[in-house]
Amino acid sequence: MKESDIRPKELTEKLHSFLRKDRKIWLAGQDQFIRVPCPACCGKETKDPIVVRGMTFETCTHCETVFYNPRPTREQLREYYSKAESYEFWANHIFPETESVRRKNIFRPLADKIEEYLSLNGVATDVLMEIGAGFGIFCDEMKGKGIFKRIIAVEPTPDLAQKCREKELEVIEAPFEELDLSVRSIDCIVSFEVIEHVFSPRELIRKSMRLLKKKGLLVIKCPNIKGFHFVVLGKQKAPNFGLEHINMFNTESLTILLEMNGFKVLEMATPGKLDADIVRNQALEGNFDIHVHPFLKQVLIDEWERLGNKFQQFLADNLLSSSMLVVAEKK
Ligand SMILES: [Zn+2]
Repeated sequence: MKESDIRPKELTEKLHSFLRKDRKIWLAGQDQFIRVPCPACCGKETKDPIVVRGMTFETCTHCETVFYNPRPTREQLREYYSKAESYEFWANHIFPETESVRRKNIFRPLADKIEEYLSLNGVATDVLMEIGAGFGIFCDEMKGKGIFKRIIAVEPTPDLAQKCREKELEVIEAPFEELDLSVRSIDCIVSFEVIEHVFSPRELIRKSMRLLKKKGLLVIKCPNIKGFHFVVLGKQKAPNFGLEHINMFNTESLTILLEMNGFKVLEMATPGKLDADIVRNQALEGNFDIHVHPFLKQVLIDEWERLGNKFQQFLADNLLSSSMLVVAEKK
């Protein structure tokens, strides 16, 4: 899979024009932003503040989570997501045009992996819930497997919730924080590319804890700020750093967050497939000077055909990719 398969250039350019408009809504409320402790370990000491496109990020001295601070309040975030035009564009253009490649390369392998984990750990398969189901591709894949009696897609964005209903999924159109469900009713909760957006990751984890049955599984996929493309390109140049991604964990800090809130981490992996391609593309577009890194130039440009895939696999196998996946069990 290549970066352009899931983020075609033409669509990405249009998306960025919506994001530039959305950023104005976001920054308009700056005078009400509030300071928060580290979203992973609750530490209050920070270092290395950096301003990226008008947004200030700090790094937790203890666990090195990078987070937007001060940040919009819960109410401001809710209002932002209800108004942001970029989501309509995702729902009506990016997801439909990239659905088959996302299904094949991202969601089918994820569904297979989760099926394997459920079986390995003897988890019951009555109810599965996805927080932030988006276009509904993962839930649809799981439905196809026929292992769960009930699958609930939680999706607060109206256009995306509608796409889930079109796939004949059971949809709850509300933010996860506001769900009113009975405790210990769910066997497995999954959440992909959501936790980096929320006001309080701790609340997301704690609410998941309340809803899960004992020994239930929580599976989270999100960016790893210590992954290859973030480290090599730096925060200013890395795509996906900045607006909306307000909590950027690393493999250790996400583990801390889960363990502090009663989960046991069964597996931490970085199955990302795009780091090498992302850095290569930034170099080819002239945004990143790869000539001062002869080794990277050799691997990512000169000998790309021979080494590209192997190098990406090395990153993925050694917790060095920028996309991480954690499987945790409710103790
Ligand atoms: Zn921390």
